[in-house]
Parts: sequence; C-alpha cells; structure tokens
Amino acid sequence: MASEKLEKLEFDLRKLPGVGKKTAQRLAFFLVNGDKENALSLAKSIEDAVYSFKKCSKCNYLSESEPCEYCTDLSRDNSSICIVESSQDVILVEKTNMFHGRYFVLGNLLSPLDGVGPEEINFPQLLAFIKELGSKELILALDPSTEGETTINFIADECKPLGLKITRLSIGLPFGGNLEYTNSITIANAFDRRFEV
Ligand SMILES: [Zn+2]
Repeated sequence: MASEKLEKLEFDLRKLPGVGKKTAQRLAFFLVNGDKENALSLAKSIEDAVYSFKKCSKCNYLSESEPCEYCTDLSRDNSSICIVESSQDVILVEKTNMFHGRYFVLGNLLSPLDGVGPEEINFPQLLAFIKELGSKELILALDPSTEGETTINFIADECKPLGLKITRLSIGLPFGGNLEYTNSITIANAFDRRFEV
C-alpha cells in the first residue's frame, strides 16, 4: 500500500509532538482505512480551529478574538504582567485563580546558540506592552531550564533599570495524582512563594 498520498499524510503526522514513525504509520492507516466520516470531521475540525485562532497583537496569546479576552478584560490589573512561554501556560496560571493581572506570551525561550535572541522572544513587543500598561511588576513564570534561566536573567537585567519589580515563581515540588490538578496546586504554591530576581 505504498502511496505518495499516504506517505505525505505520515510525514505530516510526524510533525505532531510525541508522534514517531510507527505511530504516524498507524494513524495514517487508521485514517484512510477507518470511518471516513470521522476522518473528514477531524480534518474539518483542524481546519476550523487553525483558521479561528490567531495571536493577539498585544500579548501573543492564541485567541479567537483580537485583541484577546485578557487584553479586553477591563477588570484585570494592569500593574503586573505574568510572562509565560506559551498560550497553554496562560491557561495553567489562570486555573490557579492566583493572578488577576495581564499576560504576555514570549513564544520562545532565549537560546543564543540556536539563534533564538531577544527578537525571537518578542522582547521589543514586551517593552512596548509594559509602557502601554504602565506596569510595575513582571512575574516570570518560565521553565526552570537552561533556556528559562537565560531568559529570566536577560529580562531582569533589561527591565530592572526601568524601575520594574521582577519576581519569579519558586520551584514547587510536583506530587502524584491528576496532572492538571497537580499542576494547578504546584503553580499556585509557586505563585504564592514567588521571589524577587
Ligand atoms: Zn492579548
């Protein structure tokens, strides 16, 4: 059943996170071999979602509205901005109910050796956002990884001279059980015990 179309489908499936060669092959066969309606419904859902979501021009959060729901919510506090790597992280922080300020999605973490510099983490846009809101505190909710540390240090070095208070989340201890629930508790604790950089 070697076919260019099937190979292209496998090739595209392999671009999904966590999908290796074998899984891609299995999924491709499943899609062409199984219930056609289900497969086409999946294709349509992907198309609809991809066309509906775009990055907010102010904070980069993936949203169906422009500006996004956080940027247009007047009840949110402009004095603090929680800086995260991805839109998924916004949802995790939001679930803790600990933060009612604004968000900014970097989209990347600094990695100079891989060519990911300040432009790639949308740093100029972040500076404009801080200025527009007149914010006083930046809360860095980034991964405790090498790239995360590099990014935290860079933003702290650049923004402290502007008179901003820079805090970072403490590293919480993950404990077992439901991942979402654990994440929420861990992040809430980390928020509570955030400290100045
Ligand atoms: Zn926004």
